[in-house]
Amino acid sequence: MPVPEGPAPEGGDALVVLSRVDKHFGSLHVLRAVDLTVHRGEVVVVIGPSGSGKSTLCRAINRLETIDGGEIRFDGRPLPAEGRELARLRADVGMVFQSFDLFAHKTVLDNVTLGQIKVRGKDRKSAGARARELLGRVGVAAQADKYPAQLSGGQQQRVAIARALAMDPKVMLFDEPTSALDPEMINEVLEVMRHLARDGMTMVVVTHEMGFARSAAHQVVFMADGRIVEQAAPEDFFGNPRSDRARDFLSKIL
Ligand code: ADP
Ligand code: MG
Repeated sequence: MPVPEGPAPEGGDALVVLSRVDKHFGSLHVLRAVDLTVHRGEVVVVIGPSGSGKSTLCRAINRLETIDGGEIRFDGRPLPAEGRELARLRADVGMVFQSFDLFAHKTVLDNVTLGQIKVRGKDRKSAGARARELLGRVGVAAQADKYPAQLSGGQQQRVAIARALAMDPKVMLFDEPTSALDPEMINEVLEVMRHLARDGMTMVVVTHEMGFARSAAHQVVFMADGRIVEQAAPEDFFGNPRSDRARDFLSKIL
C-alpha cells in the first residue's frame, strides 16, 4: 500500500518554515539561502551527497546549530534562543540520529520515561505507562527492562524513536536513521517510520533509502553544496530529475 494516502496538506498549516537560511563553519558555507516549508502531516525526505548540508539543516531546526542568516520559524514563531523555551522546542522537535545514542546506563524503559518526567513534568506512573505503550508500538515491549547494549541495533533505534515520541513531538527529524544498521535490521526501522507517516506524523527524513523516499514522501528535497537544488513530489523527482547534479546522484545510488 502506498503510504501518502492523499496530497500533502496545503495552506496555512506550515509547521516549520526556513527562509533564506545561511550557515557557515568558518570559511565553509554549508547552508546557502535555504528556503523550505514543512506542513503539518507532511513527510519531507532530504537526499543528497555527503557534505551537502543535510545534517546541518536538521540540527538547525531544533537549534543544535545556530544560523548566521535568514530565519527559521517553528509553529508560527522564531526559534527560541535559550531557557525553558528552548527545552520545549527540543521536545517538540523529536530527533533520531544515525547513532542511536540511548542512555547506556539506563534501562530501555527509563530511556523512554525520564524525558517525560523532566521536560514534560509528568509523574512516574503515567510516564511509565506511556513508555510501555510506545515500546509496544515500535515492537520492543519485551525489552523494557534490558539495557541498550543488550539490544540489536535495530531494536535500539526503535527505542530511540519511542523515546522521541514520548515527548509528544510536533515533528520528527530523522538523520540517516538506518545508515548504521545491518541490512536485515533496516526494514524493521523503516516500517516503524512508515507507520508514523501513515498516522499523520510530520516528518523530515534524511536517508539514502530511495524506496522509502518513493513510497512515504510527499516532497523530496535534493541538496548539493548547501543548496536545495530540486524539490518535487517523489514521482516527479525520480521520474524526471531536472538537474545534472540530481541525475548524477541518482545514477550512483540507484
Ligand atoms: P551532510 O549531512 O549532508 O553529509 P553536513 O551537514 O554534516 O552534511 O555537513 C556539511 C558541511 O559542513 C561538511 O563539509 C562538513 O564537513 C561541515 N561541517 C559539519 N559540521 C561541522 C562543524 N561542527 N564544524 C565544521 N564543519 C562542519
Ligand atoms: Mg549527515
